[in-house]
Amino acid sequence: MNAHAHAAPTAPQTRAPLDPARIRCDFPLLGRSVHGKPLIYLDSANTSQKPAVVIEAVDHFYRHMNANVSRAVHQLGEEATTAYEGVRTRLAQFLGAPSRDEIVLTSGTTQAINLVAYSYALPRLAPGDEIVTTMMEHHANIVPWQLVCERSGATLKVAPITPAGELDVARYLELLGPRVKLAAVTHVSNVLGTINPIAQIAREARRRGIPLLVDGSQAAPHLPVDVKALGCDFYAVTGHKLFAPTGTGALWARRELLADMPPFFGGGEMIREVSFSGTTFADPPQRFEAGTPNIAGFIGLGAALDYVQSLGRERMAAYEHALLEYATAALQAVPGLRIIGEAAHKVAVISFLIDGVHGHDLATLLDQEGVAVRSGHHCAHPLMAFYGVPATVRASFSIYNTRDEVDRCVAAIDRVRKLLA
Ligand code: PLP
Repeated sequence: MNAHAHAAPTAPQTRAPLDPARIRCDFPLLGRSVHGKPLIYLDSANTSQKPAVVIEAVDHFYRHMNANVSRAVHQLGEEATTAYEGVRTRLAQFLGAPSRDEIVLTSGTTQAINLVAYSYALPRLAPGDEIVTTMMEHHANIVPWQLVCERSGATLKVAPITPAGELDVARYLELLGPRVKLAAVTHVSNVLGTINPIAQIAREARRRGIPLLVDGSQAAPHLPVDVKALGCDFYAVTGHKLFAPTGTGALWARRELLADMPPFFGGGEMIREVSFSGTTFADPPQRFEAGTPNIAGFIGLGAALDYVQSLGRERMAAYEHALLEYATAALQAVPGLRIIGEAAHKVAVISFLIDGVHGHDLATLLDQEGVAVRSGHHCAHPLMAFYGVPATVRASFSIYNTRDEVDRCVAAIDRVRKLLA
């Protein structure tokens, strides 16, 4: 008899909340001290720390598998190619992409957006055409559009945000007129933490026949992402904010859009046939992947995706959201502290200013206390101009941060504030 025939129906699995003490053991660097104080790393929106599984995957690649991909028939070459191409498949699953052939491996979001700017947008732009972006973008989702607009005579339109740091969605949609060839928006702001309503924007862009590019740099480390459910056309991610090595990332794009895009970089691996009478190109995604990639980095990215999957993205988001609420309340209690970015839907990123205290001074003195925060314009000059400030201090959190760290950070801020005010 089938051993399982009389098994009781299994209850839906509810997993215990993330245990930050256990998570911290996965990240070797978090054990170090800075200026004689235990490190409190609150700069994960800049780059995340890396779990041991990622470091070990890179190490294992170089010790046991190192070879170039797609070029050799020898055993090492085959192993390296299989491992590397496996990461493309995992990225497709991670992003909910219908096909692994829709994943172009890039050095990060910046390269992914530039690929769309030069290969998709530029050939389609004529004088008088428009591209739409927003006031809350990272320079990576502004400057490439400015460059292709300059070359083509097109205009870059900018959707406003509210003082609370939410996108003015109605204004964004109003800007999606008949001359718009491409709309761009960040999923999550790296300064404000705001989560934008991508599915709504994508639905409206689609109704108007305008392709939508989403900068997912700050979303992928914090939220479940499913490009099919979002309904956008291009989605860019970067590995180094997602527990993976620097120099890794990806562009997901709909197959029919990629098929119609000319190459951006020329060189090895992106061709079908080269001759001086004419060169033909490989199909996507290889058409956009000239040259030797960051193979070890991508192997590390594969390990990072497995790590995230093993923890569960909903669980990670729930843990971080609770930490965001705790940290927001704790920071709001600091006299003279003003939080910039108070959207209803946020990830665990908090930008702030303190009356009479220069951000760089604060960040420098916090560093002396072992607290790593970022101060500056965060590659978002237009957003700083909107708030009328040259810079903010930003504390950005990840699954390895704890309430105890928040308390110690706030106590350090208070000490520094009294010293500087
Ligand atoms: N977009 C956003 C929202 C970012 O926060 C960043 C990095 O800070 C980037 C783009 C650029 O990513 P990368 O430098 O990895 O290409």
